[in-house]
Amino acid sequence: MKAKTGKTEDAKARAAAAGGADDLEKIARERGIRYFLISYVDLFGGLRAKLVPAAAIGEMQKAGAGFAGFATWLDMSPADPDLFAVPDPSSLIQLPWKREVGWLAADLFMDGRLVEQAPRAVLKKQVADAAALGYAMKTGVECEYFLVTPDGSAISDAADIAAKPCYDQSALMRRYDVISEICDAMLELGWGAYQNDHEDANGQFEMNWSYDDALTTADRHAFFKFMVKSIAEKHALRATFMPKPFPHLTGSGCHAHVSLWAKGANAFLDAKGELGLSPLAYAFLGGVLANAEALCALTNPTVNSYKRINAPVTLSGATWSPNSVTYTGNNRTHMVRIPEPGRFELRLADGAANPYLLQAAVLAAGLDGIENGRDPGKRLDINMYTEAHKAKGARRLPLNLLDALRALEKSKVLATRLGAPFLSSYLKLKQAEWNDYARHLSQWEREHTLDI
Ligand SMILES: [Mg+2]
Repeated sequence: MKAKTGKTEDAKARAAAAGGADDLEKIARERGIRYFLISYVDLFGGLRAKLVPAAAIGEMQKAGAGFAGFATWLDMSPADPDLFAVPDPSSLIQLPWKREVGWLAADLFMDGRLVEQAPRAVLKKQVADAAALGYAMKTGVECEYFLVTPDGSAISDAADIAAKPCYDQSALMRRYDVISEICDAMLELGWGAYQNDHEDANGQFEMNWSYDDALTTADRHAFFKFMVKSIAEKHALRATFMPKPFPHLTGSGCHAHVSLWAKGANAFLDAKGELGLSPLAYAFLGGVLANAEALCALTNPTVNSYKRINAPVTLSGATWSPNSVTYTGNNRTHMVRIPEPGRFELRLADGAANPYLLQAAVLAAGLDGIENGRDPGKRLDINMYTEAHKAKGARRLPLNLLDALRALEKSKVLATRLGAPFLSSYLKLKQAEWNDYARHLSQWEREHTLDI
């Protein structure tokens, strides 16, 4: 198949890259790469790819790999022309557990035009909007996940039964072979991996690597999920990032640590500011708080997500997830924590968050805060799990996906910043998903209604 000729600035940049230092055919020869995965993340967070032999990568780098867009979650029609995924050579990652394969994040084009609703494009638009104001967002994510049995029904380690299993050394070391293989991979890739632990739920783990610019972190986040699942499978296990796979256990969050940089310096850092944050940081935070309900449709994008936030107390004694639109200092019971000067931690997102849409949503809300001088109000230094009654007027997070989608639908801020093509596609597909769920007849309904 033949690609259409791109007419955008991106197309020109791609053409320049294809003939320059990022010649993938040459890189394949130098590094012994036999195949490339040309991949993209769709609106539901699914990683889609074509496996392309190195002999064909030269043409694919220019023209892109062809897909039928309707076959993935992108809000396209079966009658649409070919969708072309054009790889970004700067995203190349050689699979540490299968070195003959190179992974590439791609940008999507149709009829020579950028597909604006594609998650990576949505994030790149926010990054460009921030750059126009002189800022770059840096971010790090903490991806929690469970290692479960291959059928997904139970945690994989029958001995992992402690009521407070967080940091359990023995349970961590029983999974040493998997954890160390993933950590070694991150070290080899130069991500600055620095710690791994058993988390607060039985069977749950977290691995941390260094923060970076928003697009790099989003690409790595997408790859991390693929890598963890792939290496777990190698060890006859299954890894899941599902937000709340077991009702009585703590769910899997995806906390994001956020700062904005200008001219190579952290513009959130202010030694004289409250908790070491600058007025710019508080305005950004004000935007995140002001748009929180709508953000949830992106940071907590599944039916299951709402069983993690607003959850009742778990076996370990705390859910570690937020239930209110509030912020605080170094205290883990609110939606936003300021752990130290120069950054804040958004504790809202969960394991189902789309790596690109998560960062795009945070950046869009933050830029709204800056441009409109949004005031985050006073921080709350209370235990939100036991003293919520003291937080007079604090807004509750949406109780389900439908409430969050309705908040997103009403959000003029996010519609303007994320773009109408994205918002209408996302809402259409997600509302259809909610309707599909609502038609599902649950055991709970049967038990509570059969004899009514
Ligand atoms: Mg954690």
